Amino acid sequence: MPEIDCKYTDDPVCPYCGYVCGDAWELDFRSNEETTVECCNDKCGKDYTVSAHFSVTYSTFKIEPAALPGKGKEGNDEKPE
Ligand SMILES: [Zn+2]
Repeated sequence: MPEIDCKYTDDPVCPYCGYVCGDAWELDFRSNEETTVECCNDKCGKDYTVSAHFSVTYSTFKIEPAALPGKGKEGNDEKPE
C-alpha cells in the first residue's frame, strides 16, 4: 500500500484513503490552526485533523518625508536656511 502524501498539500488529503478534499475554504480555522473534518469520500468517512500552514510575506513602502511626525513643515516648498 503506497504511502499517502498528505503533508503540505494544496488541499487537505485524507490520511486514511488519500481522498482530496476540495472544500478547504469551508473549513473553520478562525480560532486555531487545526480543525477536525470528516473525509469527503463516502466510502471512507473517517474523521481526521487538518492543520493549516500559513506563510508570511512582506511588502515595503516608501515614507513620504512630509508624513514623518516632527519632520518637515507644512508646505514642501520651504527651502533650508
Ligand atoms: Zn478518507
